[in-house]
Amino acid sequence: MVGSSYKTEHYIEIESENNSTDISTGQMTAYHAQHILLAMPPRLVTHSIAFEPALPIDLAKQWQQTPTWMAPHAKYVAVYETPFWREKGLSGSARSGVGPLTEIHDASALYGEGALFGFFGIPTHVRQSVSATGLKAHCRAQLVRLFGEAAAAPTAEYIKDWATDIFTATPADANGDGQHAVAPATMPETGVWQDCLIGSASEWSVAFPGYIAGAIDAATVAVTRLPETIKPR
Ligand SMILES: Cc1cc2nc3c(=O)[nH]c(=O)nc-3n(C[C@H](O)[C@H](O)[C@H](O)COP(=O)(O)OP(=O)(O)OC[C@H]3O[C@@H](n4cnc5c(N)ncnc54)[C@H](O)[C@@H]3O)c2cc1C
Repeated sequence: MVGSSYKTEHYIEIESENNSTDISTGQMTAYHAQHILLAMPPRLVTHSIAFEPALPIDLAKQWQQTPTWMAPHAKYVAVYETPFWREKGLSGSARSGVGPLTEIHDASALYGEGALFGFFGIPTHVRQSVSATGLKAHCRAQLVRLFGEAAAAPTAEYIKDWATDIFTATPADANGDGQHAVAPATMPETGVWQDCLIGSASEWSVAFPGYIAGAIDAATVAVTRLPETIKPR
């Protein structure tokens, strides 16, 4: 971004010139628009969209400093032939301070296979310093301690790390604590971007930033800000 001091990876360009706004996605696709709903978190907007002219620097900093909830987090999922822990009267839920997973839940389908998933309780940089194979081995060992030997033989294992997902997290999220963001109070109040940009993803919600309820709230508020003539019916 022109005039900003942090490193960005622009996938989208939005250019405003002579009261005309063009959006280019870099895939030989270009759009022309009067109003743009920003359906991604503020931090991701500043990281992945190049604005020309640049956003006001204070506004860009404020957006960049708004964390995306859950962006630093990761989950481990282990699939089993059956939810064997239930045979022992165990729920599959656990809070654990020994091992990589801090919070574990039964993620089984209603019938058939069983599954356990856990949120990692270790920071991004620690997760990334261990191979996926090593990380899975530590997770399995933890599940064995909690639920018994049968946990050692999952039929499938997955790790989903949002901190490495470029459509969710930026490098700034890697060190975050994943706490709820306070929605940025401001949108451009002067200049070419005034009345053109409208935040509509969860982290723009004043009431419930970061939650699914926030996504609904922000999108609802965003649509009310559109001129009557173009509001969806
Ligand atoms: C692990 C985890 C657990 C969660 N648990 C809960 C919970 O228990 N309760 C709760 O209320 N909420 C929870 N959430 C949060 C909830 O999922 C989000 O608040 C909600 O999905 C946000 O919806 P959204 O429409 O604002 O954004 P998203 O659903 O994130 O949509 C943004 C979209 O923008 C796309 N995108 C990003 N960058 C680009 C780009 N450059 N080009 C094109 N597309 C792009 C993304 O791929 C994505 O599809 C959780 C989130 C995570 C990650």
